[in-house]
Amino acid sequence: MPKPSTDSVHGHDYYDVETGSFRVPLYLSSVFEHPDRRTGEARKSDRGFEQKYSREENPTVRGFERVIAKLENAKDSLAFSSGMGGIASVYLSALSSGDTIVITKESYGTTQDLALNLAKFGVKTVLAGPGTADFLEKIKRGVALVILETITNPLVRVVDIPAITKRCQEVGARVVVDNTFATPLLYRPLDRGAWLSVQSVTKYIGGHNDLVGGAVALNDHTDLVELWDFRRRLGSIMGPFEAFLALRGVATLKVRFDAQCKSALAVAEFLEDHPRVEAVYYPGLKDNPYHKTANKLFLEKGVYGGVLSFKVKGGKAKAIDVLKRIGLIKPSPSLGGTESLLNYPITSASKTISPAVRRELGITENLLRLSLGLEDVEDLKADLEQALV
Ligand code: PLP
Repeated sequence: MPKPSTDSVHGHDYYDVETGSFRVPLYLSSVFEHPDRRTGEARKSDRGFEQKYSREENPTVRGFERVIAKLENAKDSLAFSSGMGGIASVYLSALSSGDTIVITKESYGTTQDLALNLAKFGVKTVLAGPGTADFLEKIKRGVALVILETITNPLVRVVDIPAITKRCQEVGARVVVDNTFATPLLYRPLDRGAWLSVQSVTKYIGGHNDLVGGAVALNDHTDLVELWDFRRRLGSIMGPFEAFLALRGVATLKVRFDAQCKSALAVAEFLEDHPRVEAVYYPGLKDNPYHKTANKLFLEKGVYGGVLSFKVKGGKAKAIDVLKRIGLIKPSPSLGGTESLLNYPITSASKTISPAVRRELGITENLLRLSLGLEDVEDLKADLEQALV
């Protein structure tokens, strides 16, 4: 089996005999000949879906989906207009009225918010975590879906996903792992028994802060057809231009991610010693409570992700002051791109999480989340130094 960096570059398997091109072309066309006038039959993509209209199937999007499937070691994947487009399509295809979802309290705010909103369609949502024990207690027979995140947001905790997945298998619940923060370089959920692996392609996979997209990887063909049909009904497919950018982005995933993780560790150590910093959260730090679990779960040794969080001394006013003073690093939501971004969780990713849950999780008013980009790490430290005065 090729290594992920090879699959990132070649996983689309595209080769055009006529031209000799081995780069997936950008098919902006919304329509394709239907039926194929040579045969009178519908044209089919390589996986047998009709190729007639880009809301359903598009050759550029298909190239990107093949890369994701290889990286996630999945039979196939579907690309979506955003991470949320993928998650919403999963909810609608997998759930029926009367079902129960168990979702990590630390999930991305909108994933949780959407699950709670499904109450109006008769779907019950139970919040679980942050510790493994709480999941094990709440995942019972009758639970339809369990939503987990490999590295959580914003406090970058690493729960024992294989243990929770095992429990889900025992009671017949399907597991969806949002693998956005870890990427398939650190964890491949399907190899460990998950039903689906979800990515916000907007983050590390796209990697350049210039596209919004999502992807879902899975093994079961019947479930693929069901999800494909919901994507078609909802119109939640990734656009071809985004797929083209995502193909270009994903080709450099490993070199970018390795560099970002290296910078994250260096900056975490720098912040740990900083007199104006109250606490640093990063699983790569030896005294972090999730360090051991990360070492157990992650596929690359000594690599712990490119996001860290820290609490500043001086409360909300100081946190806002840092966001105003920061220069090279941009105050902005999102993560995983070329530019380092400093985020204020209580007004972005965690905004829709109830204040009580935020309190329980430790998402306080002095918490900041930093996503490392590809700038020189010394320049990043200098920027933080001048912002933390
Ligand atoms: N999952 C996680 C962990 C995220 O951080 C985000 C967005 O920040 C999403 C899903 C949603 O992805 P998108 O913004 O591409 O819809």
